[in-house]
Amino acid sequence: MTTINYTNAAVYNHNAQAFETNHYIVVDTGSGKIIATGAGFVDTDVQIDETIDMQGKYVMPGIMNAHTHMTSVPTYWVNGGEDDEHDDSREFNTMYAIKNMEDAINNGITYIRNVGAAYDIDMEIKKMQESGMIKGPKVMTSGRAFTMTGGHGSGSGIEVDGVEAMIHGVRTAMKKGVDNIKLMVTGGVLKNGETPDDIQFNEDETAAAVTEAHHKGKTVAAHVQGAQGVKEAARAGVDTVEHAFNIDDETIEIFKEHGTVVVPTMNAMYAIYQYGEKTVPEWARNKVIVNIKKHFASITKAAAAGIPIAMGTDAGTPYNGFESESAYEMQLYVDKANMTPAQAIDTATINCARAMHIEEEYGEISVGKYADFIAMTENPCEDIAVIQGKKDVYQNGVNVHRGIPQEKISTVTA
Ligand SMILES: [Zn+2]
Repeated sequence: MTTINYTNAAVYNHNAQAFETNHYIVVDTGSGKIIATGAGFVDTDVQIDETIDMQGKYVMPGIMNAHTHMTSVPTYWVNGGEDDEHDDSREFNTMYAIKNMEDAINNGITYIRNVGAAYDIDMEIKKMQESGMIKGPKVMTSGRAFTMTGGHGSGSGIEVDGVEAMIHGVRTAMKKGVDNIKLMVTGGVLKNGETPDDIQFNEDETAAAVTEAHHKGKTVAAHVQGAQGVKEAARAGVDTVEHAFNIDDETIEIFKEHGTVVVPTMNAMYAIYQYGEKTVPEWARNKVIVNIKKHFASITKAAAAGIPIAMGTDAGTPYNGFESESAYEMQLYVDKANMTPAQAIDTATINCARAMHIEEEYGEISVGKYADFIAMTENPCEDIAVIQGKKDVYQNGVNVHRGIPQEKISTVTA
């Protein structure tokens, strides 16, 4: 085992909602975990093999993104879907996912929950990442998303209809080894002939999936946009509601009763709104124009009511990939949903870890957690946009990407 002591760091503490200066983080690169952290100098019997002066940099847990599609191509829809330059083969999707994994880790994203992958490719990618064959964030998988026949995402998803089919489908997915179940409960934006308000899975179908998943300790994420769908999914017990355009007072009460977490994916809407004119098909962009204000007001309401928000971007939708978009999503929470920068950081760290049920090992810088963190030269609590800028990325206690010019880093070997 090698121990590295990262000293003189300003470390983010979600309880304080602030970065605390002059802290150390001691990591064991064998286990990849933090074995000591605190203010000032290390007061521990642990032998330190290497000491690295962080020179006052701002260190926060690595970015976690609870809603990604690693096999989806953000340019697929550009030019009305006419410019489809890829062939939708398993090979293309796999190689594209590998590229996205590298983009993600180089942009400080150290954990993703993939919620719908063509050909179940996220399951293979997860194994490749774990064995060190490819560079990238750690992955929570869902395999292919579940949808009704002809429903949202039916192109690359699994079509099921009725409670029996749902039970069989969810059990089959868990037999293959998925970590999470993704359900398309309502219609959405990027499919013609449906609206975000359409109910697609009924409450019995959703509840059946939840029961099966929870029996095996797995989580359920529900794509839900319209008001009725959000309520039905939350009542059926899904762990996270994704998107959620129409949260009202009744919905807030249902969320509180069931401990529901909201994953906003605001950039999915905002990117189409900002950049999609004349490129994203009109039928899709029109749905964004009709719903974007309701969506942002809905997330603002949930955050103000204290509903836990976990950061997710829907990476893979138009103009919304695996680079700085996750950090930009946090800025949207500040600019458009009334959060403080610290609250926005929490959405992408501790709240994500809790939503994914991995808070024992992720989401904060403390003893026993994996040493996945990012370092910046400015304070994101003063300006959330800092996270979109240059940063160094650490995974399992070792540097895996340098965004900050190297001459600023000094190394002392004990
Ligand atoms: Zn999605």
